[in-house]
Amino acid sequence: MPAKIIDGKEVSSKFIEDIKKKVKGLKEKPGLAVVLVGNNPASEIYVGFKEKKSQEVGFYCERYNLDEGVKEDELLKLVDELNQNKKIHGMIVQLPLPKRINENLIIDAILPHKDADGFTPVNLGNLVNDNNMLVPATARACLELIKSTGVEIKGRNAVVVGRSNIVGKPTALLLMQENATVTICHSKTKNLKEHTKNADILVVACGKAKLIKKNMVKPGAIVIDVGINRVAGKIAGDVDFENVKEVAGYITPVPGGVGPMTIAMLLDNTVKAMELGKGVLK
Ligand code: NAD
Repeated sequence: MPAKIIDGKEVSSKFIEDIKKKVKGLKEKPGLAVVLVGNNPASEIYVGFKEKKSQEVGFYCERYNLDEGVKEDELLKLVDELNQNKKIHGMIVQLPLPKRINENLIIDAILPHKDADGFTPVNLGNLVNDNNMLVPATARACLELIKSTGVEIKGRNAVVVGRSNIVGKPTALLLMQENATVTICHSKTKNLKEHTKNADILVVACGKAKLIKKNMVKPGAIVIDVGINRVAGKIAGDVDFENVKEVAGYITPVPGGVGPMTIAMLLDNTVKAMELGKGVLK
């Protein structure tokens, strides 16, 4: 039987509706600042989506487009201004930044309670301590999509392909919190297939188009494809969707899977950031 498709648009729409309702009941609009450096076409698209969706749910949104050649100091100054700006409750600095800019330095300058992406060391450290504050949106998206299947996570073998700080590692931590037995694979993993074949839950975030084929997937597995790759002018995931859907139990498409859910989680993080800033959440 072919896999059930996990529709990211449908799952995310429930979250989006809840956020809209919540925002309507607030005296002040949640404020999100989106900072883009340079003109990487993929980043421009992602930032455009984030801005559009945040306005759709009733947020106040400020967008900053900085020149590719912006100095590190100038970017730090902007982050500091946004830290002080009372109308802004959450901010994101779209990654990747140009190589000459120290990404860690910039992310570290964001006040933890305004860190809508959940990338600062404080928020990642809290996640390691099982004290979830602002958790990276894509990792939250993966977990919610897995939960949407209704399959129990506890005790299952989960394999995460990719160990980035913004996707792979936080996703593995969330799955561990849910009591899955987690394996993390990466570019130096030997015999990737031996690991992925064992996964009841397989999350793939490696940025390698169609790397995962059906002979690498356990029949009935939940397969979450985070990858966004451009192949011959089309977008493809890290999973060979047509091939893998023949064996998987559940699978996310690309586009229309993790992407829309990530945006919903970013918006949710922004509301949470506002509450944290006002001391509503501790
Ligand atoms: P990254 O480049 O920072 O990390 C990639 C990871 O994959 C690394 O840990 C690397 O060791 C591993 N890897 C690379 N080749 C591998 C291989 N052949 N086998 C096993 N592991 C391998 O990337 P990232 O920021 O984590 O993003 C991963 C993918 O997810 C990209 O395609 C990115 O565009 C996409 N992404 C999508 C969303 C979304 O909202 N859908 C959000 C963030 C990232």
